[in-house]
Amino acid sequence: MTGPYVGGAAGYEVTTAPPDDGSTRARTGTLTLTHGVVETPQFMPVGTNATVKALSPDDIREVGASIILSNTYHLYLRPGHDRIERLGGLHRFMDWDGPILTDSGGFQVVSLGDLRVVDEGGVTFRSHIDGSTHTFTPELAIGVQEALGSDIAVAFDQPVFPSSPRAVVADATERTHRWAERCVTAHTREDQALFGIVQGGLEPDMRAASTRFIADLPVDGICIGGLAGDETPIERETALDVVIPLLANDPRPRYLMGLGSPADILEAVDRGVDLFDSVLPARVARNGQLWIPGGRINIRNRAFLDDPAPVQDDCPCIACRHFSRAYLAHLFRAKELLGYRLATCHNLTFTLDFMVRIRRAISAGSFPAMLPELRLRAGRVSASEGSVQSA
Ligand SMILES: [Zn+2]
Repeated sequence: MTGPYVGGAAGYEVTTAPPDDGSTRARTGTLTLTHGVVETPQFMPVGTNATVKALSPDDIREVGASIILSNTYHLYLRPGHDRIERLGGLHRFMDWDGPILTDSGGFQVVSLGDLRVVDEGGVTFRSHIDGSTHTFTPELAIGVQEALGSDIAVAFDQPVFPSSPRAVVADATERTHRWAERCVTAHTREDQALFGIVQGGLEPDMRAASTRFIADLPVDGICIGGLAGDETPIERETALDVVIPLLANDPRPRYLMGLGSPADILEAVDRGVDLFDSVLPARVARNGQLWIPGGRINIRNRAFLDDPAPVQDDCPCIACRHFSRAYLAHLFRAKELLGYRLATCHNLTFTLDFMVRIRRAISAGSFPAMLPELRLRAGRVSASEGSVQSA
């Protein structure tokens, strides 16, 4: 086991190392950032537009979040990073005093498809809001994140779909490396950590080369990008089995971007991943899909209109403490705003409680033995639902 990582704006200490018998690579750790401490493995709710949709900061704390993610691309376009900086930075603007990770905008601008052009300088794209033309460069992506003042900035990359042809993956991965070096040079804010992103698609040799390249940079954490897309769980786990062993003696945290279903998170934790984010729990909640141990219910179903029970018996969330399934079913049918808030609180509470259970099992040394029980609790969300990235 290596010693703790001590960076200028981030420290990471493994508190429970994986066992020597190779039964799991799961570990617990403590990530110390400018605005607080994050226990890992951890899930980050997504606040795309400087708000976790439908929730107040008090709600975000109550569901158990210790760190949230916000989107560089969205805040650059609206309301503008300069404006947020003038107003005191992102933490003050949204009244969240805990840690924030900002993504780099790479995923969003590259996902725009026909609306964007990638060259060595950066990505030129048309705004999804008003059609205006913008160019994101590695230097601008870092500048925007420094203006926002997040605890963790992420290097600008060029993700590609996991199923892309090898030549496309190779080109994007090499460009991601050159851009990562430019991000390291551009980054100046001493109270902000910087994470680099590994690409390489589903090609084992390119994944390995990308892992080595990014791990050689002076970054504070390693993001694993280009997954949680259109790959199968087996393909994802195979990629992780390439990346994580190469980082076995690396003291920095590992973050798999965009993975959100409890079942998928569990398997990635088993393979040694520390951090996760996704819009999935909140997005499906707004559609009436509520996660419960072993599966889910769709609260729009008629059967719930007369159901006096809470969504989940032992759940501490505001929805389950105060309201019945019948009431939620009514709110969704009437499209009442409170329904979206209650449903989102429930799914995020379920997800973050699941992370607590995972950490507890790892700390107790019983994670491999607990895996069947945790898998049952996670239920199984279909692969397509399980891979919704923050768009
Ligand atoms: Zn609940």
